[in-house]
Amino acid sequence: MLLEGARTLAESGLSHGRTGNLSLRIEGGMLITPSGVPYHLLREADLVELSLDGTPADPLARPSSEWAMHAAIYRHHPEAKAVVHCHSDHATALACLRRGIPPFHYMVLQAGGPDIRCSDYATFGTGALSEAALRALEGRRACLLANHGQVTYGATLALALELAETVEHLARQYLLALQGGEPVLLDEQEMAQARERFGSYNR
Ligand code: 13P
Ligand code: ZN
Repeated sequence: MLLEGARTLAESGLSHGRTGNLSLRIEGGMLITPSGVPYHLLREADLVELSLDGTPADPLARPSSEWAMHAAIYRHHPEAKAVVHCHSDHATALACLRRGIPPFHYMVLQAGGPDIRCSDYATFGTGALSEAALRALEGRRACLLANHGQVTYGATLALALELAETVEHLARQYLLALQGGEPVLLDEQEMAQARERFGSYNR
């Protein structure tokens, strides 16, 4: 299932080359993609089983350099069953401007709240990045990672992947709107009404 998800991510154009990584929560930890393997060469045997403190079941395995960020999300968000990280173009462009996605469109609510934050900057693969991501994810299922990309989680791998696509679309739409001027933001009441409608819309 994780291998299939990795292929879906690569085919969707959200992740090129060796960038990005995915994981699934499993009994005792997680199953995560390996570090530095291009998606088209990825095999089932390359996937790494890891405890949440970073101990691989196979000591020779090379888990994704972002395993600590995935583990931090599983530890702090019990509802997270899958995590997706990618460097999709528009989300990354916005993250390089250090701008999150404000309530310019009601679909922002899909990430769990009225905005999608951009984290502070930290070097990839570090504990500092895990902490920055956790802060930006408070009350949310997605955030942008400053000068890096985006990360999402979900109750299933399909939902985490869908949210990564939604974040990318929203980032693109927001950047497009910014080119025409200053987008009008929806107010608290308008977002609350949209949230209410979503209650009966999302299946
Ligand atoms: P890995 O190949 O180690 O997963 O790294 C890719 C990446 O996106 C790092 O932030
Ligand atoms: Zn990355």
